[in-house]
Amino acid sequence: ADHTNGHTDSSLVLPEIKFTKLFINGEFVDSLSGKTFETIDPRNGEVSAKVAEGDKEDVDLAVKAARHAFDHGPWPRMSGSARGRIMMKFADLIDEHAEEIAALDAINAGKLFAFTKMVEIPSVANTLRYYAGAADKIHGEVLKMSREFHGYTLLEPFGVVGHIIPWNFPAMMFFVKVAPALAAGCTMVVKPAEQTPLSALFYAHLAKQAGVPDGVLNIINGYGPTAGAAIASHMDIDKVSFTGSTEVGRKIMQAAALSNLKPVSLELGGKSPVIVFDDADVDAAVDLALLAVCFNKGEICMAGSRVFVQEGIYDEFVQTLAKKAKGWVTGDPFDPRSRLGPQVTKKQFERVLAYIELGKKEGATVLTGGKASGDKGYYIEPTVFTDVKDDMAIAQDEIFGPVMSLMKFKTIEEAIKRANNSKYGLAAGIVTKDLNVANTVSRSIRSGMIWINCYLAFSDDCPYGGYKMSGFGRDAGMDALYKYLQVKTVVTPIYNSPW
Ligand code: ADP
Repeated sequence: ADHTNGHTDSSLVLPEIKFTKLFINGEFVDSLSGKTFETIDPRNGEVSAKVAEGDKEDVDLAVKAARHAFDHGPWPRMSGSARGRIMMKFADLIDEHAEEIAALDAINAGKLFAFTKMVEIPSVANTLRYYAGAADKIHGEVLKMSREFHGYTLLEPFGVVGHIIPWNFPAMMFFVKVAPALAAGCTMVVKPAEQTPLSALFYAHLAKQAGVPDGVLNIINGYGPTAGAAIASHMDIDKVSFTGSTEVGRKIMQAAALSNLKPVSLELGGKSPVIVFDDADVDAAVDLALLAVCFNKGEICMAGSRVFVQEGIYDEFVQTLAKKAKGWVTGDPFDPRSRLGPQVTKKQFERVLAYIELGKKEGATVLTGGKASGDKGYYIEPTVFTDVKDDMAIAQDEIFGPVMSLMKFKTIEEAIKRANNSKYGLAAGIVTKDLNVANTVSRSIRSGMIWINCYLAFSDDCPYGGYKMSGFGRDAGMDALYKYLQVKTVVTPIYNSPW
């Protein structure tokens, strides 16, 4: 396949990479060891930048700065509206630089340039605005105690927060964690994924320009087992918020438990079902199912990678799917015709291809795709497997690529049971016109997000997160703001009270 689609003009928007150091206490600095690591352009496998590599000592410095900013700095002490104003300015700066940021994510994470510029970056600016608007509405409750006492609760910023984020949505993952923590008055150390640190460093620069005080937002690039582990086990970090694999989530929780018992929130893997009932409009259902697994080349924790179709429309669904899958063109992320860019790294590319081979070996049938696309870069064709059995690895494991496992079912009870047959519980899709079916299935699926006749529909006020081994705690919405606040109860006696 011609994965470049003849495009020649990507140089027009290729960004200059300005920020490659660590960001500690408001300054870009080299790592103490002087070490760097390379970021790779997934469009061609070439080195795009050399980035400072932080390790434990650098995390220590960042935590010191964050602790000082928390204990003595203005950020937790200023009014919510003052924090909100700075966050609004930060949001405006993001909007002004949307094109440059989108280009960084295209050459660093293989993100579709146009979509990132037009949709993801403006939406993260709005995430900042959502929480900026909440910053002056943080308040506790008055407690009418059953004795002659008066009580109230204070909501205090949690303290120094560590955010460990993945590579699949460098912008969204950054702000879904940083924005509520900023609004709450926390200070923080962020470790972007080692694959995709470039846009995070740009955000640090913009935060400073917007007036976020030094030490409030620190960025440590580096690897998981070194910089990431140092955050998880740090004695002076009060909370860790993590998004990534279930395997790493387990390590983070363990490190937190073994150090200072810091609470963690974990947003982990998924193997989300999409259940299509006989009364569905087949065309629309196929579009929904393809979006669910192909969006962001399947590199999305909420991907709808198990598709259950009721027997009455199964054959028609398969035929329509085979046709429509061709519309999901894999190609250069700067080409507006591309709907899937390259997988983020060689490792992920090889991992997805290995799962495709495993699916074939397990006896599933390849309906579409089933192989890499092009002869350079990490491009994969959207792949649909039919004849999938529930216990096959391709029906149980999170693949994190554009690979759909298609299965047939007879009754609603069977669909519910099989959809819940997963260690994960992040999201689910239901396609039906029958309100009773939609309501019954919504309440029966054990997952943090249910989409009825849509998929991946989000907004800043929609909390999401896991049931079961998809983790716990919620990102987005007001639930996420409360994650970064402590509840303190204050009690005082009332003398001569008539009550
Ligand atoms: P992968 O890159 O294999 O998909 P994850 O998605 O779980 O792994 O990585 C998400 C984030 O977790 C990244 O920022 C990564 O550097 C970090 N990480 C990986 N291993 C650890 C660890 N042992 N402790 C803390 N963070 C880690």
